[in-house]
Amino acid sequence: MPGLIKREDIDEVRQRTDIKEVVDGYVTLKGAGLGTFKGLCPFHDERSPSFTVRPQVGRYHCFGCGEDGDVIAFVQKQDHSSFQEAVEKLAARIGYELRYEDGGTGPNREEVGRRQRLLDAHKIADEFFQAQLLTPGAAEARTFLHGRGFDRAAAEQFGVGYAPQGWDALLKHLRGRGFTDAELKLTGMFSEGNRGIYDRFRGRLVWPIRDIAGDTIGFGARKLYEDDQGPKYLNTPETALYKKSQVLYGIDLAKRSIAKDRQLVVVEGYTDVMACHLAGITTAVATCGTAFGTDHIKIARRLLSDDGTGGEVIFTFDGDAAGQKAALRAFEEDQRFTAQTYVAVEPTGADPCDLRQSRGDEAVHALVQSRRPLFEFAIRTTLKQFNLDTVEGRVQGLKASVPVVAAIRDASTRTGYCQALTGWLGMPDPNEVLRLVTTEVKNAGKRGDLGGAPAAAPRASAPAAPPGG
Ligand SMILES: [Zn+2]
Repeated sequence: MPGLIKREDIDEVRQRTDIKEVVDGYVTLKGAGLGTFKGLCPFHDERSPSFTVRPQVGRYHCFGCGEDGDVIAFVQKQDHSSFQEAVEKLAARIGYELRYEDGGTGPNREEVGRRQRLLDAHKIADEFFQAQLLTPGAAEARTFLHGRGFDRAAAEQFGVGYAPQGWDALLKHLRGRGFTDAELKLTGMFSEGNRGIYDRFRGRLVWPIRDIAGDTIGFGARKLYEDDQGPKYLNTPETALYKKSQVLYGIDLAKRSIAKDRQLVVVEGYTDVMACHLAGITTAVATCGTAFGTDHIKIARRLLSDDGTGGEVIFTFDGDAAGQKAALRAFEEDQRFTAQTYVAVEPTGADPCDLRQSRGDEAVHALVQSRRPLFEFAIRTTLKQFNLDTVEGRVQGLKASVPVVAAIRDASTRTGYCQALTGWLGMPDPNEVLRLVTTEVKNAGKRGDLGGAPAAAPRASAPAAPPGG
């Protein structure tokens, strides 16, 4: 990680960048005379445009909400990125090589060019897949979407496409657009065999996975045909663009709602993200082939608030063990984050996509509404293993949940859960639980594992399953 970008380079990037061109990528601008352009403000809801851009002075201003700044501020706010990231993005755009205070250099011109080629290849592939969805060969793909309650407009909204059967449909298309095999190998869209490279995604429904700015950086593909020997879901492997620990499917569509509503809903699959958004839960995203981890938390934090606290992160699970494990795993993460984490479990095991289809949009809303704090979920999940109707079961339940409560680092929250646990166990005196938990906290401190995962919570290996459909 290089140090701070040199002041003069920041000024140079700002000067050389046409703010109108950058804003154009996000907002439709119309000339308003005197070198000014107008459009609908991306920072507040409005019907008539009060957002103005003045390229000569390199600034934007909204007369509705007062948002105001230069091109770097605009990119920062739109992408929810840091100052440095915004400058790097803008520099890459114009092929400017940044220098850093510690003598380091950022990505050089060659790397910037390679990255742009990768993005271009993804954009072309994305358009190719979407066009294929309308062809006769994609009947199975359309049937799948229809069967999940998604019409053509929904498919278009999310850019869903179809990767044709055969070995080289996309390969030929991209070669025809001037990409060399060496370049294509770096895209993650091709596999390599004895006779060279061939399409990685074949006979599959394809979702474009986009970064927060809306650029396609990878694909998730679901199998459609019985004779497909591959996994149900196949994603882009790690590439220069696609890092699964940082990718959130739907983040490009959800970012604005997440920031506005200070809520992030994490679902398990591409179709669940679609179903949520169509049902009006526009804060929904999904991880792609990995569990929600530390890097995802960073992204969530940045979107939810400026200072990294507050807001709600709601995990929806279909109630199976993997989902519960993933939730309990949060104990191993930063507990400032855990304190704003909630879990919504659908008792029937239906996912948001099933719910929307069988019981409508309201059922999806109801699932999100039913969220419970993560700590409560973890303790109750522990208690569920015991028959609390018997004295023996209650004693065992108490023993198992004390370490869970003791792992809560915030003292007043911990005390609160001592009382709650007393109630859930039907015990008369909260002091007994409090005493046991206090002892456990002290012992854990002596053992040196305070703050680790509670003994009763399954120490989670992240469920590595790709999102289900
Ligand atoms: Zn505004």
